[in-house]
Amino acid sequence: MSAHRGERRNNGPVSCIPHILFRNSVFCVVVDTMKKKPPLASLTPEERDARLKKIIMSGLGKAWMFWPPRNEVKRRCAIVFNNESGWFRCELCKREVQKIDVDHIIPCIKPSDGFTSWDDFINSRFVLADKLQGICTTCHKLKTKEENRQRREMKRVRKM
Ligand SMILES: [Zn+2]
Repeated sequence: MSAHRGERRNNGPVSCIPHILFRNSVFCVVVDTMKKKPPLASLTPEERDARLKKIIMSGLGKAWMFWPPRNEVKRRCAIVFNNESGWFRCELCKREVQKIDVDHIIPCIKPSDGFTSWDDFINSRFVLADKLQGICTTCHKLKTKEENRQRREMKRVRKM
């Protein structure tokens, strides 16, 4: 048995790496699951709702990637030069950038109302290109920061 092990070790460290990586990733996943995600049955109804909401949100996030108006916005922002594009013009700051984010002009979850219903959320998320804008990462970050500030402010006001 030990000879067998020695033999395997002699195959060189390279062949061990995937095994170690695999074992480590399985270990991490197991630890992760134990730490962060207790079984659904052990959760309170509120916690279960929160988990379900997260799962549906992430599914809708993936569906959003396939929403055709996204491409319309990207085409709208594309700077075509010699029939080649690759650069975009940000619709807010008008700078030329290499990466453009498709953003909802009116946030899917309005800071003033918070999450109301799935119908509201889906209807405000999956909108046509006229309700979307192509913006650069800098503008996107600033806009998100401002929306989050408004959300915190609304939360504070509601608590009072
Ligand atoms: Zn910009």
